[in-house]
Amino acid sequence: MLPCEAGDEVGGCPSWPAICASERRLRRALWASGASVWEWQQAEDLLVMDPISLPGGVLRLPTLSPAEFMQRLHPEDAEPAGQTWRSHLQGVRPDFEMSLRLPHAGRLRWLRLHGRAVERGADGQALRVIGTVKDMTGEREAAEALQAMARELEQVAGRDGLTDLPNRSGLESYLTSRLGSTGGFALLQLDIEGFKDINDSYGHEAGDRLLRAASERLRGVIGPTRDGLLARWSGTSFCAVLPPDSGETEVRATAQGVIAAFSSSFEIGGHQVSLTPSIGAVLAHRDGDTAVELLRKVDVATCAAREPGRNGLAFYDAGLEDDVQRRVRLFSLLRADAERNGFAFVAQPKVDAAGRAIGAELLMRWPTEAFGYVSPVEFIPMAEKLGLIGLMGRHALHAAARLAARCQAAGQALPVAVNLSPKQLLQPGLDRQLLLACERAGIAPALLELELTESALLVGMEVVTPVLQRLRRQGFSLALDDFGTGYSSLSYLRQLPFTKVKIDRSFVMDIERDARALQMLEPMLRLCEVLGMSTVAEGVETPAQFEALRQLGVPEFQGYHFARPMPLEDWARRVEQAAGAPVPLPG
Ligand code: C2E
Ligand code: CA
Ligand code: CA
Repeated sequence: MLPCEAGDEVGGCPSWPAICASERRLRRALWASGASVWEWQQAEDLLVMDPISLPGGVLRLPTLSPAEFMQRLHPEDAEPAGQTWRSHLQGVRPDFEMSLRLPHAGRLRWLRLHGRAVERGADGQALRVIGTVKDMTGEREAAEALQAMARELEQVAGRDGLTDLPNRSGLESYLTSRLGSTGGFALLQLDIEGFKDINDSYGHEAGDRLLRAASERLRGVIGPTRDGLLARWSGTSFCAVLPPDSGETEVRATAQGVIAAFSSSFEIGGHQVSLTPSIGAVLAHRDGDTAVELLRKVDVATCAAREPGRNGLAFYDAGLEDDVQRRVRLFSLLRADAERNGFAFVAQPKVDAAGRAIGAELLMRWPTEAFGYVSPVEFIPMAEKLGLIGLMGRHALHAAARLAARCQAAGQALPVAVNLSPKQLLQPGLDRQLLLACERAGIAPALLELELTESALLVGMEVVTPVLQRLRRQGFSLALDDFGTGYSSLSYLRQLPFTKVKIDRSFVMDIERDARALQMLEPMLRLCEVLGMSTVAEGVETPAQFEALRQLGVPEFQGYHFARPMPLEDWARRVEQAAGAPVPLPG
């Protein structure tokens, strides 16, 4: 029961009279605004909700646990609501707001639920959460009707309301008229990635503002021009029609301009975020003679542009259709294999400056019948897109913990590193999963090292920092992977509780050829030292690289020079057979 229900007068409240009085005032004010109050306490795990005012009545919900409440929601809302709720309980967000659909009396009612933990335990877990709930069905329906009207108007006018660019139908009619005149031209599709995380972390309104800012940057490169057109194609995708007689040269120049325009970050609510464009290109008449055909093919090219190694630009060619089909097959195979855990793991040893094994990194392998072994560079981003990375990552965590446990049982406390995708980091309950994996395997968290790339930091420091700090407090080691490849500023390092920095292979590769690479490495190493972080050089392939890095004072190494990734069984056997002595490596 809410504390203020005991009595109407201050004196009637059995405990905390002043608090009860102010809560009662608050409740009256909320009642006047049409909102009701709810409360949850960890001890009972029940949502105690005041009746919700509806036009011409009230909606009384029985007292349910949050899980039971979510089960009653529209199926599309139940899972995201559960996630928001759990992450709030864990302290990932200080408060939350969600719009939920609840079937009631034969129709869907829109509820807006606000909440904030008012008491947390020493571990940061919420003990008591209070909030408000308000029926928003009327407002929602009116807004939807307005939006539908606006869409219809936009369609008729051929313009997109958000960016004020021509929309899909405007683009199609423009393309058709350009195809009717003589001469070729290039059509580009510009897909801007990174919005989903922004919408999830900062809300759709912020996402819309960012999309407008992105369209402004595109306009700066592409338009305004009387001979071309920039249009909004869909969601986060734009199309540019270049002037008459434009060909591959103009496409490359435009693509370069766009990539340069997106190389600096955007500001959103005081935070810096990065967006990455993927650009597909087709040439009119060479690749197709109708708007429909060109638009289909440019879509295929844009899919290809997203793949690693393309540097964000791809021209259409017939071979890409096969690639796209392959990817479609892989997507469906991945879904099936994620469910039945059709993955294998390998371990790659890490060594110290004397070349002695000091641990290993767990890497995932995906054997498929149709395509052989598919590289994690290809399937991990797919798993992230399909929302499967949480499930697959869980298999990896348990495999890593079991491997560390086997080494421990052989008398060697050799930590096992496991890669965490940014998506996993943001999933509520990650720390519980990790602790569970350690508990089941019977190891201390210090034997698990979590490797994260800088892309995990892109969603914003204020979201990532508390998660990392909690993991660190729980005893896990944290390594910043692929250091030197991304957007990283060294200032990140100062703010985040990393225990280790992994210097990317591209740096290591350069040191033999380019003296400046070594010179750049030195201050980086000193900085890590000052911040109390260890460093690992990865991708060491030659004795010369090993020697140069050792001279610089790098304490840990990994790479084919010492050992390639090997089946887990091999690593465990080597450790067991060493019987406490240094573990022999294949060399
Ligand atoms: P990473 O974490 O940077 O892993 C190192 C990659 O470099 C591995 O490729 C490894 O086999 C390779 N490598 C190691 N030493 C050398 C060397 O001396 N020369 C060369 N040329 N390559 C070397 P792999 O296994 O293909 O993994 C690629 C990436 O896929 C990993 O990069 C990691 O980002 C991701 N990944 C792999 N397993 C997992 C996983 O379980 N979960 C997640 N989220 N990502 C994973
Ligand atoms: Ca790694
Ligand atoms: Ca790496």
